[in-house]
Amino acid sequence: MHYDLIVIGGGAAGLMCAIEAGKRGRRVLVIEHANRVGKKILMSGGGRCNFTNLHAAPENYLSANPHFCKSALARYTQWDFIAMVERHGIAWHEKELGQLFCDESSKQIVKMLLDECAEAAVQIDTGCTIEQVRRDDQGFSLDTARGTRNSTALVVASGGLSIPTMGASGFGYQLARQFGHRVLPTRAALAPLTLSGKHLDDYADLSGVALPVIASTAEKSFRGGLLLTHRGISGPAILQISSYWQPGEPLHLDLLPDHELPEWLQAQQRERPSAELKTVLSEALPKRLAQRLCELRFGNRPMRQYRPGELNEIAAQLRAWPIVASGTEGYRTAEVTLGGVDTAELSSTTMESRKVPGLYFVGEVVDVTGQLGGFNFQWAWASGHAAGQAA
Ligand SMILES: Cc1cc2nc3c(=O)[nH]c(=O)nc-3n(C[C@H](O)[C@H](O)[C@H](O)COP(=O)(O)OP(=O)(O)OC[C@H]3O[C@@H](n4cnc5c(N)ncnc54)[C@H](O)[C@@H]3O)c2cc1C
Repeated sequence: MHYDLIVIGGGAAGLMCAIEAGKRGRRVLVIEHANRVGKKILMSGGGRCNFTNLHAAPENYLSANPHFCKSALARYTQWDFIAMVERHGIAWHEKELGQLFCDESSKQIVKMLLDECAEAAVQIDTGCTIEQVRRDDQGFSLDTARGTRNSTALVVASGGLSIPTMGASGFGYQLARQFGHRVLPTRAALAPLTLSGKHLDDYADLSGVALPVIASTAEKSFRGGLLLTHRGISGPAILQISSYWQPGEPLHLDLLPDHELPEWLQAQQRERPSAELKTVLSEALPKRLAQRLCELRFGNRPMRQYRPGELNEIAAQLRAWPIVASGTEGYRTAEVTLGGVDTAELSSTTMESRKVPGLYFVGEVVDVTGQLGGFNFQWAWASGHAAGQAA
């Protein structure tokens, strides 16, 4: 069986690529080893798929080459994807910070992609494992559990390593190496952080407590929610900073990002000298956390008994609470994989290999990783589209 194009992986990037190539009259086969396509789309955004972001721009992506993503993102924008969503009558809304979600269900996005595939006469083979990939004079030859499939071009869209239970595999990296491509070191990103020892013992029983913070490394800051968990810390601000945090690096949390400090504490001292610090802090922070901070660090006396220097020190600690994370929760819960196929060996306009003509890499398998908020799907759509226009 000979195809113009075989796409390995029926996720966001693979399906978009197949649609675009199919629309151009290419004979396309998508091979997906899981029992259905688009599993990550289905589980994304709490079941409502944060399918893009109004503000998607190259600055929202991490890569050894920050310029690489520009061309594909410019040629298939968030507005192009929104237009497709609207063509299919899918109602959507902006939640916050430009993040767009389906009003109803992420199933609608998968159905939309499958309808587009059907219209473009794309063939999809699910539950099909690939044993071997070879290159010959005709193109590519894939030995699968259902026999050999041949194609002129091959698109690797098999995703990253996050959530192995959803079909994630290292297959794309393995193929890249087989064809002489460099794979940059991978690690779990957009992942909760773990604490250990005293750092965990002091706060683990506050699991479930949530508050707005600004989480910072020396280079990057994110404002968003923090959630204390029984193993460490999570929430949007932590997931975001986890992509930039290096093991061993200090991390700081601004626990009162909406308060002027130390002015607010000084005003409380003037206005309510008899109020205990715990009571004052409980009005700005979750009560259990305020109590714990007083127990462990600040003491709990009437406000009038704190000297100016002490109030300044408390303010400084609330402004930059030091966190010593022991690691991330890893691929089990990470939303994405950092690193991957080195962009230096790919064309940024077509995603084609510079080493092996006819071979393409798209989506998360490539060393381009988005921040939290719909940016990863936008990269999947844009890079899939770029390859689908060329392959
Ligand atoms: C829980 C969760 C929630 C997320 N929420 C969002 C969100 O709301 N917004 C956002 O922008 N991003 C989100 N992401 C990230 C987003 O899902 C990914 O960045 C995106 O799916 C990457 O697309 P992809 O096509 O490259 O890879 P995937 O979508 O992972 O697709 C790869 C496909 O290849 C298949 N495959 C793997 N190995 C093989 C093989 N050997 N043979 C055949 N098939 C194979 C896999 O089964 C899979 O179907 C979320 C991720 C997770 C884990």
